[in-house]
Amino acid sequence: MKYFAVIGDPVSHSISPILHNMAIFELGLDAVYTRYHLKKSSEIVNAFISLGLSGANVTIPHKEFALALCDEASSMAKNIGSANTLVFKNNKIYAYNTDGLGFLKSISDFSEIKSALVIGAGGTAKAIAYILKQNFIDVEILNRSLDRLEGFKQAYECYTWNDFLPKNYDLVINTTSAGLRDDLLPAPIEILTPIISSSRYAFDVIYGKTTPFLHLAIQNNLVCKDGLDMLLHQAVLAFNLFFDNDLDEYEIQKAMQKALRLL
Ligand code: NDP
Repeated sequence: MKYFAVIGDPVSHSISPILHNMAIFELGLDAVYTRYHLKKSSEIVNAFISLGLSGANVTIPHKEFALALCDEASSMAKNIGSANTLVFKNNKIYAYNTDGLGFLKSISDFSEIKSALVIGAGGTAKAIAYILKQNFIDVEILNRSLDRLEGFKQAYECYTWNDFLPKNYDLVINTTSAGLRDDLLPAPIEILTPIISSSRYAFDVIYGKTTPFLHLAIQNNLVCKDGLDMLLHQAVLAFNLFFDNDLDEYEIQKAMQKALRLL
């Protein structure tokens, strides 16, 4: 039997075990998926080995360490600068990042996106900005503080709340955790209103609730989406990596969608 886990801090809220165990069950695989609460990022590889895992999903705040401490990393993970999936094969730990492609799949029904504003400059922003740019979409970044913009400045136009001048974007994405456990917008309303009122699509990586950001976008008649599809698609891709990409993505997706309907 193969063992898998999601490793994070916190991790109790994660629905990854439900998605992955349903896929294991529906596809008749000999495996089990659990969650592991790890506090120290530097212990990520030790935990992975000592738990005897064949693969893991990595969540906040360990994604950068997962990339730094693995034996081999995919070019996508290296380019993004973090890893959300670890796989044990040939006695080595391989790191991947499926967040970017998961996001891209989740906006496949958004048409003619040429420009996007990414709000936030954390790990999720890195993955989303990277995949959008790879797909020839003009990306700008808006973040509350200056510090985290350092890593973006070479590749993107970057702004803080202090120097941002409103423009038109096709898509506005909230990648911050504002609205997750509070009722905050990811930027002051005076900044957000002109942006949102001139955009066509809004996306929030937070799932399971209408955040204040999505609420504002709905009020302005934008086509809106929360982070549930992104969660699903990054999980489908990660699950297939656990099994050497030998499985049928559609079958994994069907199983995971069944799990989501039971929540
Ligand atoms: P990070 O800690 O790496 O980054 C957090 C970002 O949010 C920073 O840019 C920070 O700004 C900003 N921020 C936090 N609080 C506020 C606030 N009150 N107002 C404005 N900005 C704020 O987090 P991650 O990128 O790893 O995760 C971000 C979110 O994405 C989480 O909610 C996570 O659950 C979600 N997520 C969803 C996924 C999905 O599949 N749907 C996948 C991965 C993550 P500053 O630099 O100023 O501190």
